[in-house]
Amino acid sequence: MDSFDFDTLAVRAGTQRSEFGEHSEALYLTSSFVFKSAAEAAERFAHSEEGFTYSRFTNPTVSMFQDRLAALEGGEACMATASGMSAIVSVVMTALSAGDHLVSSQSIFGSTLNVFSTIFSRFGVETTFVDPTDLDAWRAAIRPNTKMFFLETPSNPLTDIADIEAIGKIAKEAGALFVVDNCFCTPVLQRPIEYGADVVVHSATKYLDGQGRVLGGAIVGKKDFIMGKIFTFVRSAGPTLSAFNAWVLLKGLETLSLRVEKQSANALETARWLEQQPQVGRVFYPGLPSHPQYELAKRQQKSGGAIVAFELKGATPAEQRENAWRVIDNTRVCSITGNLGDTRTTITHPASTTHGRITPEARAAAGITEGLIRLAVGLESPADIQADLARGFVN
Ligand SMILES: *Cc1c(COP(=O)(O)O)cnc(C)c1O
Repeated sequence: MDSFDFDTLAVRAGTQRSEFGEHSEALYLTSSFVFKSAAEAAERFAHSEEGFTYSRFTNPTVSMFQDRLAALEGGEACMATASGMSAIVSVVMTALSAGDHLVSSQSIFGSTLNVFSTIFSRFGVETTFVDPTDLDAWRAAIRPNTKMFFLETPSNPLTDIADIEAIGKIAKEAGALFVVDNCFCTPVLQRPIEYGADVVVHSATKYLDGQGRVLGGAIVGKKDFIMGKIFTFVRSAGPTLSAFNAWVLLKGLETLSLRVEKQSANALETARWLEQQPQVGRVFYPGLPSHPQYELAKRQQKSGGAIVAFELKGATPAEQRENAWRVIDNTRVCSITGNLGDTRTTITHPASTTHGRITPEARAAAGITEGLIRLAVGLESPADIQADLARGFVN
């Protein structure tokens, strides 16, 4: 289906019908598959990537999700995993060995930061963290044993934009595998492979499901890497996506562009409104001309995305926190949760939740102030979301 447009692929790519001709994709809840004969079983086990044997590594519903997402990302192949974190862990465990070095953006998802700095370090993989917007820092971090670059853009929660193409060139010069976590933009807004990424990873838990129902993850890249080393790893280690979750995610992909584009439009409207509010200090949103990388965002992304961060003013950090918490506690529409990517707007105070475990110094260095709020804008009316936030403003 390579020649079809994105919106066609989103509803049709990867579909495989059984002998019954069902229109909606079937949910294959089965742990294993039966064979007609001993000879067929032997053949299937020898070429396990081609037929269905056991759902730890091959399942028709999971295959449909994999093929559809690969088509949307413009990648050759995809391997689904149980969560976004298992996708990231699988890529590192497949591509790196003890003694290898990883260069990663410092502005990445908290658990990713944690596995890089505290888990992989125990297995002899060292990570250097860099400011993702500083190209010289990426270059300077390269060592003879650097094997991987890891990037997330826009960053969470401050929406810094990193130049995928420029970082990709540096990775290539270093001979490093370039991995991009495309969770925030999804292929609707940004396709990292077109800008030089070797591998795209996803937390399908976020926008790909988009309705806060299931966990899932995915790895997209070249066929020989995905169906070779990654398949072998997932087959043996078992960080597998369940057929049920794959079915939910398949349905999520059908409405992905509708949701992401509308949520992004709602976010832009809310970000513009926030900039007008006297109680609000800085607003971080890549779709606003005030964003430091507005031009880069326009080039690399179709729109600004659905994540907006903003600061409540206050004379002291304590007062800033009080003002931020008051806004959160007075909402009636927004959900107070650390999750994002849902059709329902979620609101978070990063300094005391998602970034609460890091030291105050590291938090300050990362620009996460006490007044900061992260909003993951959903499908509600932007006017209702704005009124919801204004309820907690004090003049
Ligand atoms: C949530 C998230 C992850 C981890 O995904 P899970 O599905 O929760 O394991 C990784 N990267 C980013 C950017 C995320 O937001």
